[in-house]
Amino acid sequence: MKAGFDGLYERIKQGEIERDDAVFLASNPPYLWSIADGLRKEEKGDIVTFVVNRNINFTNVCVGDCKFCSFRAEKEQGYMLSMDAVLEKVEEAVNNDATEICIQSGLHPDLKLSDYCGILDGIKSHFDVHIHAFSPMEIYHVAHNTGLTEEEVLKELKRAGLGSIPGTAAEILDDSIRAVICPNKINTAKWLEIIKTAHRLGIPSTATIMYGHIESLEDRINHIFKIRALQEDTGGFTEFVLLKFLRKNNELGKMVNRSVSSLDTAIVHALARVILHPYCNNIQASWVKLGLRDVQKMLYFGVNDLGGTLMEENISRLSGSPVGEYMSPEDFEQLIKDAGRTPRRRSTLYELL
Ligand code: SF4
Repeated sequence: MKAGFDGLYERIKQGEIERDDAVFLASNPPYLWSIADGLRKEEKGDIVTFVVNRNINFTNVCVGDCKFCSFRAEKEQGYMLSMDAVLEKVEEAVNNDATEICIQSGLHPDLKLSDYCGILDGIKSHFDVHIHAFSPMEIYHVAHNTGLTEEEVLKELKRAGLGSIPGTAAEILDDSIRAVICPNKINTAKWLEIIKTAHRLGIPSTATIMYGHIESLEDRINHIFKIRALQEDTGGFTEFVLLKFLRKNNELGKMVNRSVSSLDTAIVHALARVILHPYCNNIQASWVKLGLRDVQKMLYFGVNDLGGTLMEENISRLSGSPVGEYMSPEDFEQLIKDAGRTPRRRSTLYELL
């Protein structure tokens, strides 16, 4: 078995993993841990990164109906931040050393491209900060509302100061699963197409997975292989972020009778490291989804990044996040040091600061 294991490790190191290898490793966790941790060490050493950022959700009004959502509201009950309120939040963030502003919101029925560009222009004309904003679903929505193609929208957003986009709305890239959990969201092909267009236009993005609801192990593996294939093609993903499904206050939580164990979480994080090697070598665990103890554990299962300070987090909080809305840089540093690793702040695009 040892010889077989060494051969498998060598093949994975060469970037030649196959779906069957991933399935085998998922049912043999000690091998999986060993390979994931070995690759993490080779690629990233002991450095664990995080970004000082702030989340802004400028509206919760949304025409979507994702079954896992605890955030959306109807127009009559929802909120919409003024530009002054957005700028106040950015100013507070920049005064606290934030280098990134992350903006994601509901799909407001009345907003057009000029509104989205206005937010970017407004921030960029006052602050020198990286704006990481608007998921592929938001890009699709604004294109639809404005009567433009997604490519035209992306070009205008870039001109107005968009630095990169979050690869959220990916959930699980399988249309039979999407039909249940987010029936009115863009389908797999559209998500991949929008991301590919962004990368072609020089707009990098993250990639995500939402695991722990109705998907199977195979679905998770297939999802990560789709991300790998796109990354081989464009190289535009900066990181892969694993998001555990949180079940509080949403319909999917009532539909799904499943809890996600720490073992299950460790397996999917480690799989991300081995499947995405060598094309995407930043694997991020989410402290708002996992809580501090579990997020720290993931550093032993292929993870080299812990995301951002956030300052304000509404989406996971409303779904039952086990932790608060803000983790200070000092808390990040302590958490990472306590795991025996070296903390470093980074930019959105992974330059060490
Ligand atoms: S996840 Fe986003 S798009 Fe879906 S309902 Fe919630 S706010 Fe709307």
